[in-house]
Amino acid sequence: MFDYLIVGAGFAGSVLAERLANGSDKKVLICDKRPHIAGNAYDFYNDEGILIHKYGPHIFHTNSKDVFDYLSEFTEWRTYEHRVLASVDGMLVPMPINLDTINKLYGLNLTAFEVEDFLASLAEPCDQIKTSEDVVVSKVGRELYEKFFRNYTRKQWGLDPSELDASVTSRVPTRTTRDDRYFTDSYQAMPKHGYTRMFEKMLDHPNIKIMLNCDYQEIIEEIPFRELIYTGPIDAFFNYRYGKLPYRSLEFKHETHDMEQFQSAPVVNYPNEQAFTRITEFKYLTGQEHKKTSIVYEFPRAEGDPYYPVPRKENADLYAKYKTLADARSDVRFVGRLATYRYYNMDQIVAQALTEYGKMVGKKRQEAAAAKAAVGNSNGSSASVQTLNNAHLS
Ligand SMILES: Cc1cc2nc3c(=O)[nH]c(=O)nc-3n(C[C@H](O)[C@H](O)[C@H](O)COP(=O)(O)OP(=O)(O)OC[C@H]3O[C@@H](n4cnc5c(N)ncnc54)[C@H](O)[C@@H]3O)c2cc1C
Repeated sequence: MFDYLIVGAGFAGSVLAERLANGSDKKVLICDKRPHIAGNAYDFYNDEGILIHKYGPHIFHTNSKDVFDYLSEFTEWRTYEHRVLASVDGMLVPMPINLDTINKLYGLNLTAFEVEDFLASLAEPCDQIKTSEDVVVSKVGRELYEKFFRNYTRKQWGLDPSELDASVTSRVPTRTTRDDRYFTDSYQAMPKHGYTRMFEKMLDHPNIKIMLNCDYQEIIEEIPFRELIYTGPIDAFFNYRYGKLPYRSLEFKHETHDMEQFQSAPVVNYPNEQAFTRITEFKYLTGQEHKKTSIVYEFPRAEGDPYYPVPRKENADLYAKYKTLADARSDVRFVGRLATYRYYNMDQIVAQALTEYGKMVGKKRQEAAAAKAAVGNSNGSSASVQTLNNAHLS
């Protein structure tokens, strides 16, 4: 008998599996319908031997010391500060917009003080900021909005920024300095040997069994367990009773090129002309040295795997109806990005899962994260992680 059946082996499910096994000596079965652990953060060495991220670039950044310390129990880190260029008017310029972006784009030589005035002169004040368009136009004006944001957002979301919540573009800052880092969090690093290795270490415990290629619905009647933790889509759990929650999907086109370097930055955004939104070159992220290089193009799609909850009022209302159903289910815990229908970064999901574990054991998040083994982690190599095959059940 398992104490817990956990649906989904991404960050939410794997952190909870690790904590319950290692911190509370519980027996856990974690299943995922995909053929691998690590959820969307899954990385692997492709046929050419280059470490790539299957579901698009995942860059770790956080301001939370306890989240960083917790993950550090399972990985060493490679310091990495992410940088992005945008292809605009035939030039590659820093994104988010900074002093250099403006100087290069307009052929100017402004100082930090001058650029503040310059942007203020372009900005179109807006009484009430409601949409993503309002956020940008009120900060940098319509011209920069058109060049950097409008088409990018239309491609990414299939909606005009005027139809999207302010939250989408308010995440992207505008800087009057030359700081060209994409993130400014206190911890910015990549797992030294990749995300999948980190997950393998998390799940390497004699109390944790893993089933891959396994939809929980196929086993829920067959395998005895006491409690369920669900990290899949909340609408699917309730058989789409109120209709489907809209998600934006992506198609990834991976390529390997016979050259050491493909582009001059880890990510180049293409806001305007192309059908794809961006190209990522993985060796920048991983620091791997290799005579070839692997890249991925991202093409936004309406159909496909659920990646981005679409932040609009009617979708939040629909989610609230599912949340009411979820709250009434004291036998199931709903954790993670898909189960709470909100775009969260990896660190936020780790924090959410640690908080959930804290609630289960009556501890605050920081204490709950203390990864010191209560029952001793098996110190076998990560390769010893055991996975059961769905076929074992039949
Ligand atoms: C393109 C892209 C880029 C991103 N980049 C970043 C980034 O740079 N930095 C960052 O911090 N975050 C990034 N994120 C966000 C990050 O992927 C999420 O925060 C994280 O993956 C959430 O973890 P999770 O466990 O909630 O969900 P997931 O990783 O989605 O895991 C849920 C798992 O549940 C499984 N599942 C679903 N239904 C079932 C079922 N019925 N039976 C069995 N298994 C099921 C799924 O197969 C999946 O593996 C990015 C996301 C995307 C889509």
